[in-house]
Amino acid sequence: MKYTEYARDLERATFIMGAPRSKGIVVWAQPGMQAVKLLVEHFRQLTAQRFAPHVVEHGFLMESAQYRAVFGDYANVYSLFAPLGGADYLLRPDNLVNTVSGLRDADAAGPAIAVGGLLRDSPGKTPPLFRDRYIWPAVQLNQRVPKETAEGTLDFYRRVVEELLSSLALPVITVRTGPIADYGRLTYLAVSVLPDGRPTVLATLYVLSSRLKKALGDPLDIVDIGFTGKLIALCAMFHTDGRGLALPSMLAPLQLGITVGDATEQGKLAAWLAELKDAGIRYQMSPPCSTLRDRHRWEKRWHRRGAPLAIGLDRRPGSVICAGRLPLRRRELPGLPSPDDVRALLSEHDRRLASSTAELFERSLDDGGHLRKACPSCAADLPVFGEVVPVRRGRCEFCCSAEGTSLFISDQGRFY
Ligand SMILES: [Zn+2]
Repeated sequence: MKYTEYARDLERATFIMGAPRSKGIVVWAQPGMQAVKLLVEHFRQLTAQRFAPHVVEHGFLMESAQYRAVFGDYANVYSLFAPLGGADYLLRPDNLVNTVSGLRDADAAGPAIAVGGLLRDSPGKTPPLFRDRYIWPAVQLNQRVPKETAEGTLDFYRRVVEELLSSLALPVITVRTGPIADYGRLTYLAVSVLPDGRPTVLATLYVLSSRLKKALGDPLDIVDIGFTGKLIALCAMFHTDGRGLALPSMLAPLQLGITVGDATEQGKLAAWLAELKDAGIRYQMSPPCSTLRDRHRWEKRWHRRGAPLAIGLDRRPGSVICAGRLPLRRRELPGLPSPDDVRALLSEHDRRLASSTAELFERSLDDGGHLRKACPSCAADLPVFGEVVPVRRGRCEFCCSAEGTSLFISDQGRFY
């Protein structure tokens, strides 16, 4: 896969800064940061359907002793050694320890959503937003729950994560795996595919292992949900056309670019813009364009920045022309679209993105032979990555027993 193409589209959309780049450290620009804000806010809202989450950001330094008491000697963190016996620090190693101790000190269950960067030593290749040394955004939700409700709570977050990914038009299947490095007592992974069809993990959902719970000194179970900017990288790999990024409307800092002409009537325009603004539609407007060339320049610019829609007013007096994406298509609208009309056009765009990625997803799962129904005894002979959740029962494909469930098979072993 060419990692550079999606990174270039993100640069052109002014999400991230281009070269020169420090290895593994992406510098974000304003629109990219706004997209991250929108993503986190959407996650917060989905979580708020059942709980009352708050967003936190931890300091840059963390006392080594506190971290090592939980995680031991992980070698991939950056340390700052104090001279002459002072406390040693780590640079942003992890959110879990801070978040959970913060909740416990406040005698709160959470959830708390930590948003910030994590520094990790990643040797080898560091494709941007994929395997960074400074991982930003690293979004991590933690919640303390009684043991009896832990699995139900994890299942709620499975639905939250699936909905979040679906609003990014990224197809996903959730798989329950065996313990990974003794991190989770219960582990769910949200699995999608890369453009070349290889499976990849987009989010992790855990009820922490009893060893970690003990190390954190918490009598309650701890739910841990995490995802990173990799979600945005995947969007940039999938959702593009000849003009660059075509973002899903939830993530787009700019949903609608408006091109106006010299003769555009100012009063009517101002009233329409006020309506769009009140409805929360994120738009920008060009200065009055006197030539077609000017108009195209602005339209291209909106599209390059990832805008799903561009609307041109008064190409002919009174005309309203909407330019959609994937591929570029222009059509005349009967008049200025109401906020509801704009939302409908945005949904149509999102559906187009979703159907193209869903098709690739299904095909990749088929071609890779990733989904098989098997009973426990036949499954013992397969390279099982995990069981699909919610559990899908059916006949075993190998021995025809009625005890089969859908399993995710991976010949390549673990993937990330
Ligand atoms: Zn069988």
